[in-house]
Amino acid sequence: MNPTPHSPTYLIDIQELVKAYDLLPVLRKLTLQVTHGEFVALLGPNGSGKSTLLRILCGLSRATAGSIRVGGWKLPDEIAAVRAQIGLVSHKSLLYDNLSAYENLRFFAQLYNLPNADARIAELLAQVGLQKRTHALVRTFSRGMLQRLSIARALLHNPDILLLDEPYTGLDQDASAILDSLLKAAHDEGRTIIMTTHDLNRAAILPTRIVILSRGVIGYDQPAGVSAVELASLYTEITSMVTT
Ligand code: ADP
Ligand code: MG
Repeated sequence: MNPTPHSPTYLIDIQELVKAYDLLPVLRKLTLQVTHGEFVALLGPNGSGKSTLLRILCGLSRATAGSIRVGGWKLPDEIAAVRAQIGLVSHKSLLYDNLSAYENLRFFAQLYNLPNADARIAELLAQVGLQKRTHALVRTFSRGMLQRLSIARALLHNPDILLLDEPYTGLDQDASAILDSLLKAAHDEGRTIIMTTHDLNRAAILPTRIVILSRGVIGYDQPAGVSAVELASLYTEITSMVTT
């Protein structure tokens, strides 16, 4: 994992983040700090800016204003050091249909200049339960298998932080249960996780902290521990509050 320039109190430190598209603000002075080892469920209605926040964190999109540090490194100036610490699993799988699982991971390993790539690839394919599909073409994979390969890709460079954007979307019960165990393992290994989801049941299981985005800021931020039923009513309350 990447050496940090100093020992920051927060692994992720976002201060007064503003993001506007064509002058239309999506995030309005959002402040959020995440410490090492947390598993944050990031909730909020469609269009509330969850994906935008994840994209900014990994340097795929630029903030309009505000300060962002990851492991002490500053965005956008130290983007390479920030990216080295983050693995992203987004809606787009970023995988190539006509390459095998192995070839896909090999391609990304080359992008990262990863030493001992073959050993790391084998280790990750075993970890996500795809070792028997090592040489199968990705276009033959189910949605669940694609998602597992995406996680393997995101973990290739052994990042401290895993960002997942609605990872349960399109997965059946079995695939969701496998994803649960993979995320639990990633968290147990000491990785810090931020996961957006619409599934309040899932948000109530693994995450250690619940954050709800509402009207461009954090409308709710508490340790996990509330039941899925309580969370559902909290969520409705927070996201339907009228600002005056
Ligand atoms: P969420 O993930 O919570 O559903 P998004 O972050 O995808 O929300 O989007 C937040 C808002 O920003 C939406 O209104 C969306 O239309 C807008 N938006 C997202 N990306 C762009 C973009 N590249 N250009 C213009 N508007 C965008
Ligand atoms: Mg989204």
